[in-house]
Amino acid sequence: LVVLGIETSCDDTAAAVVRGSGEILSQVVASQADLLAKYGGVAPKMAEEAHLQVIDQVVQEALDKANLIASDLTAVAVTIGPGLSLCLRVGVRKARKLAGSFSLPIIGVHHMEAHALVARLTERKLQFPFMAMLISGGHNLLILARELGQYVQLGTTIDDAIGEAYDKTAKWLGLDMRRGGGPAIEELAREGDAESVKFSTPMKQHKDCNFSYAGLKTQVRLAIESRNINAEIPISSATNHDRSSRADIAASFQRVAVLHLEERCERAIEWARKIEPSIKCLLVSGGVASNQYVRAQLDKVVKKNNLQLICPPPSLCTDNGVMVAWTGIEHFSVGRFDPPPPPDEPEDLMYDIRPRWPLGEEYAEGRSEAR
Ligand code: ATP
Ligand code: FE
Repeated sequence: LVVLGIETSCDDTAAAVVRGSGEILSQVVASQADLLAKYGGVAPKMAEEAHLQVIDQVVQEALDKANLIASDLTAVAVTIGPGLSLCLRVGVRKARKLAGSFSLPIIGVHHMEAHALVARLTERKLQFPFMAMLISGGHNLLILARELGQYVQLGTTIDDAIGEAYDKTAKWLGLDMRRGGGPAIEELAREGDAESVKFSTPMKQHKDCNFSYAGLKTQVRLAIESRNINAEIPISSATNHDRSSRADIAASFQRVAVLHLEERCERAIEWARKIEPSIKCLLVSGGVASNQYVRAQLDKVVKKNNLQLICPPPSLCTDNGVMVAWTGIEHFSVGRFDPPPPPDEPEDLMYDIRPRWPLGEEYAEGRSEAR
């Protein structure tokens, strides 16, 4: 069993080849970080263009590095949602064309399920049921994974995700965005005093497991304005005083952003245990999970509650093809896949893509408990 995974849901074009045994044969990511740094966000039309430019090359490279040709594959897995529809279509079109030409079954993958399940490739002890916190640029999810394909949503964001707050804070602080805003904040925060700016923790009065980062973003923006920090002046040219004032904001922002995660996580563990008392692990994945401070703080919460923290290595936390291939393998192994598309399928077909696609049912009792 050997599966090619294709990922184009947002701003990274990624492909990978993985064996059923979990052996990663290749992994290729073409990032649009330069575009992002230049324009400060993902513009769907521009992202689509960028995917189109590299998709063939990325997939070919994944096959070459794995020392395989397409006909050696067992199946093709591709992200069909959630994400930007223009971008999803690029990956789905490529996957169907390849699968059609070589008569390969195809597996449509949920991007957030893939962020979660990839941990089962790196950590064989991660058995169902387990809890997952998925934190990235567009999502902030607390999930109870009961078994493959069966998820209960304990919490989600009511506005922005934490990664979005990291990215905006980095932009307003004039940081170098080429590696993404998150890593830049994480680094600068090490120089700052996390207690110096008093940001308030979001949603204190809501006794549920949902998140909100829009208000914190506004608090940060106001703090930056009131200190006369000019984002036009890159941090590399800032005076010592200016630099330390930016570092203080970065550290204070990070402390509260992560404290919000800690508080919700603690409550979600309680809720999850009511449904599945036997959970042993909390998995944290998604781009923000590559942050060392995030990992250390969540580790404390998890230990206090007699659970074990599991985080995939950073390269598998951010968007990648391995997670898609692996999720394809998990589903394929239990017979969940589509037959090969016809080889002459027209290219402008209405593909089954799901730009908005919840991962599992909302925990109904959550709403009454929150009162
Ligand atoms: P989604 O998965 O919600 O569709 P996405 O695919 O764009 O969004 P990922 O690639 O999983 O997101 O994660 C990217 C996000 O992770 C960005 O917001 C980035 O700033 C953040 N991030 C990456 N590394 C770090 C870090 N070290 N600290 C904090 N945030 C980080
Ligand atoms: Fe992602």
